[in-house]
Amino acid sequence: MKKVLVLGATGSIGASTLRVISEKKDLYTPVGFSANKDYKKLQELNAQYPGAMFCLTGLTKDDLPFKPDSNWFFGKTGLEEFIQNSGAEICINGIAGSPGLFASVKVLENGINLALANKETMVMAGDLIKKTAKKNHCCIIPVDSEHSAVFFLITSLKKCFSEFNEPIISRIILTASGGPFRTWEKNKIMTAKLSDALKHPTWSMGRKITVDSATMANKGLEVIEAWQLFDISPDKITVTVHPQSLVHSMVELIDNSVYAQLSQPDMAHPIAQALSYPYCVNSGFRPFDFSSFLTISFEPPRSDVFRMLPLAYETIKKGGFYPVVYNGANEIAVESFIQGKITFGEISRIVEECLQKDWNGVPDSYESVEDCNIQCKEISRRIISKTEV
Ligand code: NDP
Ligand code: MG
Repeated sequence: MKKVLVLGATGSIGASTLRVISEKKDLYTPVGFSANKDYKKLQELNAQYPGAMFCLTGLTKDDLPFKPDSNWFFGKTGLEEFIQNSGAEICINGIAGSPGLFASVKVLENGINLALANKETMVMAGDLIKKTAKKNHCCIIPVDSEHSAVFFLITSLKKCFSEFNEPIISRIILTASGGPFRTWEKNKIMTAKLSDALKHPTWSMGRKITVDSATMANKGLEVIEAWQLFDISPDKITVTVHPQSLVHSMVELIDNSVYAQLSQPDMAHPIAQALSYPYCVNSGFRPFDFSSFLTISFEPPRSDVFRMLPLAYETIKKGGFYPVVYNGANEIAVESFIQGKITFGEISRIVEECLQKDWNGVPDSYESVEDCNIQCKEISRRIISKTEV
């Protein structure tokens, strides 16, 4: 029985993880669940898993309408204690946004393997995280569907060509659904409504990542994430739009052969693979039906319209704290769009303006990354207050 810690248990990744765990009760024991404020969902989970621990990072004990038992933890310090005492072997980090970084660090510092959905962890502090994982003898198993695909492809291809002592990977090809505005005209996209941005064609996810899919910032973040996870230069990372979301990504070898990973668009799949790694478990997913028509198509991304994608490549080239700013400024811009303060088209403009400042430097500590995150968010808020609709 593998002991599993579920961070962000009340969200979309959390729900998919709970599905995987409840399907395989003989393999996984959940030892802890965290959320920000959703105490009602955690209460339900407490009734279902009375032996587990619970943590609410955004509330205190006094905020609750009931008296919690000693297995409940609160706030940032509570989260540290909760992770430390969990006894988990693997943690799935499904916390939304930059707050997920702190949790990832604590998980690794406690020698717990990290099944990573929170892409912000690698975007904001990839180099530091890799060092922390190495120091604590932990592995990071990507859960983001594209990176999960690339991880399993690269791992198996490297084993296949283990006798060959030269680099074999010439390119990583990340697939993107293209989001709800893939075929829309530029002018119409600029003033798109929140309700349109939330209509993702293939995936069901949290609000922030769904808006990011519409601007293609999600793919931008994933390019940065891939650069960090797989130590590959950005010119060897390509994005192709694949509207059906069946091919989760591809790897090209130096002989120009391309290997792809396919499965139904359901996050339970990469989650199940990360939890069972290095074993392969039949988690009961729907197989492909090749007896009926199946369309798989690819097209180039419209980088002139979806500016967040080329901006991500520029961010990597600039290095320093620029990736932290790309993420932080985008978080604030998306929040403002959701609140109706700015138009859809303003999101990338605000990020671009924030990135124009000087963010050079060496992110050599988690404190420096957190400081930059706070600073760039403050600057983004100031830019927004000048441009509110
Ligand atoms: P959701 O918004 O659905 O869920 C977010 C979870 O994080 C909730 O449990 C929420 O708690 C918790 N949370 C929110 N803010 C904080 C905070 N400040 N501190 C601690 N916990 C917090 O997000 P998703 O599940 O969609 O995404 C989670 C992460 O996974 C993101 O990084 C996303 O990019 C990544 N990801 C998601 C995919 C998906 O299919 N959804 C696919 C690939 C990657 P509460 O309910 O109390 O607010
Ligand atoms: Mg993804």
